[in-house]
Amino acid sequence: MKLSYDLHIHTALSPCASDDMTPNNIVNMAAIKGLDIIGITDHNSTENCASVIKAAKNKELLVVPGVELQTSEEVHLLCFFENLLNLREFQDVIDSSMVKGKNISEIFGNQLIMDEKDHVVGQKQHMLLTSSGLSLNRAVELVSEMGGVVVPAHIERKSYSIITNLGFVPPELNLSYLEIYQPGNLPDLTAKFDYLKNYKYLFNSDAHELGCISEPERFIECKSKSLYEVINTIKNGRRHK
Ligand SMILES: [Zn+2]
Ligand SMILES: [Zn+2]
Repeated sequence: MKLSYDLHIHTALSPCASDDMTPNNIVNMAAIKGLDIIGITDHNSTENCASVIKAAKNKELLVVPGVELQTSEEVHLLCFFENLLNLREFQDVIDSSMVKGKNISEIFGNQLIMDEKDHVVGQKQHMLLTSSGLSLNRAVELVSEMGGVVVPAHIERKSYSIITNLGFVPPELNLSYLEIYQPGNLPDLTAKFDYLKNYKYLFNSDAHELGCISEPERFIECKSKSLYEVINTIKNGRRHK
């Protein structure tokens, strides 16, 4: 089945995201737009995923729990998981790998942890907009061991992207999908780097504000609308070798 998606959405937990990015606001906006699947990917942090999943409980919306990890090479990776247990396990690894500077919310923004009714139940204390201690290779290995999947984020951007920071996508990572920020940039990119034609692409909003969440314009073909099938599709989407 063809499912419309937006798999890169930040909540109010990301300091750079609006405080209006609450679990219910995100879920309602996605539902109004008619999206089938959304992904929750805050910077280096996963604490609002469970609340967004709960907020979507009575909706026809599948919420994929995830995180936008910043590796030690300053590369942003979308990491998605099939269940909250593995997500929590990965969060522990991120937290223990980070040098924890205190967030100054007046300067960088709030890092709000919310429950499924949008009540603020805490603030993440350490600054999330920084690199974790996990290398790209180690992150891909760990996520895979935990049954999840990695998609390098906004690969054509001038900062925090795998192509800008490394110069290429290492084939040994065995990735299937990459994310492009502006779909119109893909032809130029594949013309420049022929090997990029071997990958499939996700086009997400990277929404930090409600109004930026995608319209249901992009689709992914999955066997069913379940976390297992979505993760599996992203794992095995490689076109050919
Ligand atoms: Zn990013
Ligand atoms: Zn992002």
